[in-house]
Amino acid sequence: MIQQQEDGDRRLIACAPGCQSCCVVNVSITLLEGISITRFLRSLDSDLVAQITSRLDQLWRDVRGLDDEERLFARRKCAFLDDQGCCLIYPVRPIFCRSISSTDVELCRAAVTGPVFGELHPVMMHQFQLQLYKILFLGVADGLALAGLDGRSFQLCGLVRYLLNYPNREVELLTESSLSWDEIYP
Ligand code: SF4
Repeated sequence: MIQQQEDGDRRLIACAPGCQSCCVVNVSITLLEGISITRFLRSLDSDLVAQITSRLDQLWRDVRGLDDEERLFARRKCAFLDDQGCCLIYPVRPIFCRSISSTDVELCRAAVTGPVFGELHPVMMHQFQLQLYKILFLGVADGLALAGLDGRSFQLCGLVRYLLNYPNREVELLTESSLSWDEIYP
C-alpha cells in the first residue's frame, strides 16, 4: 500500500543520515551505475577500498542468487554502509536507492522487518520521487540497449565487486561485449 502525497512535496520525507533501515534489500543497478560507483570507489583511500572489497566478497557469497524476500530474511547489510550507518557512495548511489524515500520512520522499519515475522506492513514513500527514478532507471537501461550495450539490471554488490576485481573489462563493456552470468557468478 502506498501513501499518496502532493508531487514534489519533500517536507514529509523522514529519511536521515544513519538510518540504514532499508539498506538490507536487493538493489538493482545498470552497467553505467556499476561503472560510476566503481570509478568513485577507486578515488577513495586504498585501505578503505580494500575493506569495502572484502565486505563485497563476503556479501556476494551470502546473498547471490537470493530473491527479494530471501534477501530481506537474510538481514545482510549493504557493503557500502560505514560505521555510522551512512552510505559511503552517497554521491553516486544507485538510482534504486534514490527512488526510495520513507515518509514514516517506524512504518518503514516495520515494512522491512515485518516479513521475517510473517507480518506485512505498508511502505509509505514519496510517490513523485519513486516514479521519477523508476523512469530514469528504465531510460538508462533502454539507452544502453539502444546503443548496443548491456542494458540488463544487476545486483549492486555482484556487479561492483566484479568491476573492482576486473578493471580491464570496463572499456570492453562500454564498447561491445556483454557480461556473461558465469563472470558474475563464478
Ligand atoms: S548503496 Fe548506499 S543507500 Fe544504497 S543500500 Fe547501499 S548503503 Fe544503502
